[in-house]
Amino acid sequence: MKCLRCGNDTAEKVADAPDGSGAWEVYACSTCHYNWRTSEQDYILDPAKRDPRFQMTNEDIAHLGRFV
Ligand SMILES: [Zn+2]
Repeated sequence: MKCLRCGNDTAEKVADAPDGSGAWEVYACSTCHYNWRTSEQDYILDPAKRDPRFQMTNEDIAHLGRFV
C-alpha cells in the first residue's frame, strides 16, 4: 500500500480493531515509519487534504539524523 506521508509503496497493515468489528485497521510504512488508522479524519487519510508541511520525500528521509 502507498504510504500517506512519503508516497512509497511500502506500507502494510499491522493491526485490526481488536473487537473483530472491522471498524478500523492500522497501517505502517517501513520507509518513513508513519502509522495511521483507517478511522482517522480526511485531513489525515486524503493525500489532497494533508498538510504539506508534514509530508516527506525520499530526499528528506535520506537526510534524517541517526541516533545511536
Ligand atoms: Zn512512508
